[in-house]
Amino acid sequence: MKTIKKVVSILVMCMFVFSFVPVINAGNAEYINKKTVYSAVKEKKPAKPTKLKAKAGVKKVKISFKKSKNAKKYEIYRSAKKSSKYKKIKTVKTNKYTDKKVKTGKRYYYKVRAVNSAGKSPFTKPVRSAKVKKPASGNNVGSVVYITKTGKKYHARSSCVQHPIKTTLSKAKNMGYTPCKKCCR
Ligand SMILES: [Zn+2]
Repeated sequence: MKTIKKVVSILVMCMFVFSFVPVINAGNAEYINKKTVYSAVKEKKPAKPTKLKAKAGVKKVKISFKKSKNAKKYEIYRSAKKSSKYKKIKTVKTNKYTDKKVKTGKRYYYKVRAVNSAGKSPFTKPVRSAKVKKPASGNNVGSVVYITKTGKKYHARSSCVQHPIKTTLSKAKNMGYTPCKKCCR
């Protein structure tokens, strides 16, 4: 009787233990699946950005583009030539950047690629900016300018306005006067 009891209890224990095996396996399988799916998503390279634009402004070029799928960051490259000598000038997390390290009167080529932990997208086609513009004022404006009591502009030439008041450029700027478009280049 004792032996039978022992055998039965061992059998029950075995059943008890084995009843857990599928559960453990199922859990494991699910875990492995999740991990595989997760790494598959993670390892996808980003798509190439699109609609790259390089807009020349005063002493700057504004770069913008359309964000691409799976991209974490974007690398912006610049060159003075279309097909060579590109150098990385900035890595950004957004889809715009203002390049201020430019020279007045020069045109620049830009291209961009997207980056994530899995790798890099191909480069966009390069785009060329217009010539970087000179500052709107300053060329013919000396340290002496002319203002008026009621006006909001300062003038390079006293003949531009009636009743000019002679002052300095820095004073006029401090008082909020802005350059007159007729006489200031
Ligand atoms: Zn004027």
